[in-house]
This record gives sequence, C-alpha cells and structure tokens, in this order.
Amino acid sequence: MAEIIDGKLLALKVKDKLKSKVVEFKNKYGRDIVLSVVLVGDNPASQVYVRNKLKATEYVGMKSLSFVLPENASENQVAETVKSLAVDKGVDGILVQLPLPKGIDERKILKLIPPEKDVDGFLAENVGKLMLGEETTVACTPFGVLTMLKENNIELSGKNAVVIGRSNIVGKPMAMLLLKENCTVTICHSKTVNLKEMCSNADILIAAIGKPLFVTADMVKPGAVVIDVGINRTEKGIVGDVDFENVKEKVSFISPVPGGVGPMTIAMLLENTYLCALRRENC
Ligand code: NAD
Repeated sequence: MAEIIDGKLLALKVKDKLKSKVVEFKNKYGRDIVLSVVLVGDNPASQVYVRNKLKATEYVGMKSLSFVLPENASENQVAETVKSLAVDKGVDGILVQLPLPKGIDERKILKLIPPEKDVDGFLAENVGKLMLGEETTVACTPFGVLTMLKENNIELSGKNAVVIGRSNIVGKPMAMLLLKENCTVTICHSKTVNLKEMCSNADILIAAIGKPLFVTADMVKPGAVVIDVGINRTEKGIVGDVDFENVKEKVSFISPVPGGVGPMTIAMLLENTYLCALRRENC
C-alpha cells in the first residue's frame, strides 16, 4: 500500500516557512510584498481559485490587489489594467486568472506582464530560461509537483519519469524540471502509441491529462511514484486522472485528488511571488 502524499499538509509547511521569509523581507527592504490578481468575468471556478489565492496571500503576510472586470470587458480594458500593474513599482507579481472570456486574446494579454512580475512562469522569457537551466520563475503546478517529490525524499536522478500531458502550463515545464533533476524523461500525449507500455516503465509517473480516472492499476509499475495533477468535475465530485483506489495498492507513493497537487499550486504561487520580489530588490 502506498504512502499518500498529503499536499494540503505540505502546502501549509511551505506557507508557514514563507511567513517568516516575508517578515524578514519586510524588515530588510521596508516594504510589503504585493501580488496583484486580475479576474475577468464570472466563471465560478475562476472565482473560487482567485478567492483561495487571495486568502493564501493574506495568510503568509503578503498584500494583494484584486481587479475584477465584467464578463463583457473589452480586450483593451483588460490590457490597460495589466499595463498599469506592469509599471506600478509597488507591485511584485501579476496574475491574470485564466481562462479569459471568449474574444480576449490570452497570449496578447499575458505578454503585457513584465517577465520579472510573471508569478505564473508562463512567459516565453521564463520558459526559455527553464529550458536553459537558468534561475527563473517556474509554472506553479509543476513547481509544486517537484516540491512534493523532493519533500518526500524521492530519488529522482537516473529514474524513468513519464509525464502524460504536454501542455505549456503543466506537461512541458514538468518534463523540463524532471530532466534538470537527471531523470530520463518521456512525454506522452493524446497521439502516443502504446501509452500503457510507456507508463508501466515509469518509476515516476505524472498524470496531467484532464480525464477522470484515466490511469488504471494495470498501467503502473509496482513501487512507482504517482502524482495526479488532474482536476475533473464529475457527478461524484472532483476526481483526478488516476484511479486512486486501485493504483494506491500497487505503488510506493501517490498523491490524492483533492488534497494533492491543488493546494501545492497555490503555495508555489506565493513562493514565486516572494522570489519575484526578492529578484526585483536585487537586480
Ligand atoms: P490540457 O488540456 O492543456 O492538456 C492535456 C494533455 O493531456 C494534452 O497535452 C493531451 O495531449 C493529453 N492527453 C489528452 N488525452 C490523452 C490521452 N488519451 N492519452 C494521453 N494523453 C492525453 O490540460 P492541462 O492544463 O495540462 O491540465 C491537465 C489536467 O490538470 C486538467 O485536469 C487540469 O484541470 C489539471 N490542472 C490541475 C492543476 C492543479 O493545480 N492541480 C493545475 C493545472 C491543471
């Protein structure tokens, strides 16, 4: 039976460590760390995410600025909001909650965020630095997954890691982070042939697909480490991409959904905000 990786508890540990780093920052630089959040429209899931992010910001002692624009806001209105935050010297991080309503070009809006305030690690400059192995802001979810692995002292060097999913915000940066840790990385996706065979060779298996209970026990190697990134809303509530109940009997570590990667993503957003603030003071 697997050890269950408690993302909630680990996220609390990250946030509690941050609390004292935030106090030290304030004492040293004489100012608050400020995260700004832009929410456009009335997507209920986005509203919940933003609320949780703002609550967590307060918990660690950072300040937040929240901008809520209506569903019918124009691209220009959203752009002007982001532009004003971009030049505001008091703002350390800018988070534009995605998805934006239809008709607004997300890439165009995100490009208005200066790379040093890109707390989500989505911009080309930060993704490029990750590719080059340079210090940078890494997308919160894969950063959270890596922290989960490290905090559980899971050996990564030389291991076969399989990432299912190749999105820009999860799969690709996840693969780069594992490569940096000297894993032998395979990225699988919707066109992968023999997915089961690929997965059953994985010492570390990361599922970031968006399909409920997609990864079944017959796909995993005995003793593997399985991290479930998926968040799927079903009639039975929120479930992950992994058939947790059956897979947990076969592997050494597994993260649950909910209570796994989700809380870690928020904790790493705050860590990224802190790191952005620190870099801005030291550049
Ligand atoms: P996405 O839709 O952008 O990417 C999904 C990936 O899965 C694609 O690369 C696709 O090729 C792959 N895929 C789809 N069907 C497949 C199949 N049959 N076999 C193999 N691969 C297949 O999604 P995303 O933004 O990367 O998110 C993935 C999941 O993670 C979603 O459930 C999302 O809600 C969740 N998510 C969770 C967090 C968190 O904080 N826990 C953060 C981001 C995303």
